Amino acid sequence: MSVLNIARLGHPILREIAKPVDLEALTAPGDNNELQQLIDDMIDTMRDEGGVGIAAPQVARSLQIVIVEYQQNERYPSQDDIPLTVYVNPVITHSGKETASFWEGCLSLKDLRGLVTRPREVTVEAYSRDGKKMVVEAKGFLAVVLQHEIDHLLGKVFLDRMTDLTQLAWAEEWQTYWTEKDSAQNPEAI
Ligand code: ZN
Repeated sequence: MSVLNIARLGHPILREIAKPVDLEALTAPGDNNELQQLIDDMIDTMRDEGGVGIAAPQVARSLQIVIVEYQQNERYPSQDDIPLTVYVNPVITHSGKETASFWEGCLSLKDLRGLVTRPREVTVEAYSRDGKKMVVEAKGFLAVVLQHEIDHLLGKVFLDRMTDLTQLAWAEEWQTYWTEKDSAQNPEAI
């Protein structure tokens, strides 16, 4: 297991459509399964960077793999925990009509925060790292994180989803000028 380099905005892979994962290769037995090793490395990288989620293109691999995890802490007390979950070949199969706005960050846009409006609820179909089909109905913070990460598989970053670029800030200035008046909506670097 190891920490991988993060592809930052400007790396062409962040603008590509990621390739589907071959489920047979994913579940092939043996200690040298490269896809399982990649997933372990992505988990290490996400945790090392303090992210809430990571997508394979962010470690310069064109594959449809997303990992999310969030543990509540004092700094961001308003969000629910998200257990460590690996989503392989995830697809959003349903989006709710109601929307919600969150300040998002991104490991590939390290110090920027932007206010993004997305559907409040989504249904995601995917496979686990064991190749088992999953259907996840996500609300709130998990819905935001999943939409953000699945966007990476489509060559999108959160800037593309912003409708008002006056709501874009460096993290330090965001902390100074924005958190007080908008304390209910905190981003992590997702
Ligand atoms: Zn991101």
